[in-house]
Amino acid sequence: MTARILDGKAIAARLRARLAERVAALPFRPGLRVMRVGDDPASGVYVRNKDRAAQEVGFDSATLHLPADTTEAALLAVIAALNADPAVDGILVQLPLPPQIRPEAAIAAVDPAKDVDGFHPLNAGRLAAGQPGLVPCTPRGVMHILAEAGVTLRGARAVVLGRSQIVGRPMAQLLLSADCTVTVAHSRTRDIAAECRRADVLVAAVGRPEMVRGDWIAPGAVVVDVGINRLADGRLVGDVAFAEAVPVAGAITPVPGGVGPMTIACLIENTLEAALLRRASP
Ligand code: NDP
Repeated sequence: MTARILDGKAIAARLRARLAERVAALPFRPGLRVMRVGDDPASGVYVRNKDRAAQEVGFDSATLHLPADTTEAALLAVIAALNADPAVDGILVQLPLPPQIRPEAAIAAVDPAKDVDGFHPLNAGRLAAGQPGLVPCTPRGVMHILAEAGVTLRGARAVVLGRSQIVGRPMAQLLLSADCTVTVAHSRTRDIAAECRRADVLVAAVGRPEMVRGDWIAPGAVVVDVGINRLADGRLVGDVAFAEAVPVAGAITPVPGGVGPMTIACLIENTLEAALLRRASP
């Protein structure tokens, strides 16, 4: 068997094109503000890519770059102003933040109706309760890939590796809401390979290069690799040993070109959704 390669780049491009069509038909331009505090170089790349994608679909998008010595109070004041601005539909605070700012304070300061990252405790709680709300972009992107691939989730055994607030936990909630039987594995899981072997759908989000070996994968399983790991030689690899997985899995996402491009497309989707919801309600 050779796994079908799930082309996230192509799926993301189609999603962005559909979103651009919907934006073009609106009587207003959804507004997105991306906040960057300090000079973390990776954040610079992410923020630029997000801003560019937002401009391309026709949003009114801007990046607010604050200095590294910005106080927490000053950042919260900027967020409060954006919360109050009727032209702003989505607010994103790029992480990591400088040490003097508590990320949970920044996240909690964003109006939940404008929280396009889906990290606010209210949106996390809604997701855990199975209620509609804004959902974190990366797990949302994974659900799109699974849908496009025609994967049957009802009754499937899903294993999520990783339990972060950003990926693992919301991923598990979404799969549960899609009627999977979900196992969440993490650094304290006793026999992680055995847990993985039970999976019809395996989502890896641990940040450990090629941790998931070929013999951890059940024949025919669908493997989604969220990991992005830079090796010493400069290569970018996922959390799954891709070459070992391909002969075993039924379908697999590559790294790069799998989940990564979906995250930004889903940020656009979240912002459009937030705009439509907020502007429809008084
Ligand atoms: P975190 O570091 O926040 O979480 C990692 C999780 O993996 C933790 O729950 C941790 O367990 C678990 N873990 C770590 N090591 C092991 C191990 N040896 N065995 C089992 N479990 C382990 O990472 P994120 O969730 O933020 O990101 C995960 C990966 O996804 C990273 O490679 C990141 O770069 C990538 N990523 C990709 C995105 C994309 O757009 N494609 C977006 C976001 C992240 P414990 O809780 O017990 O410590």
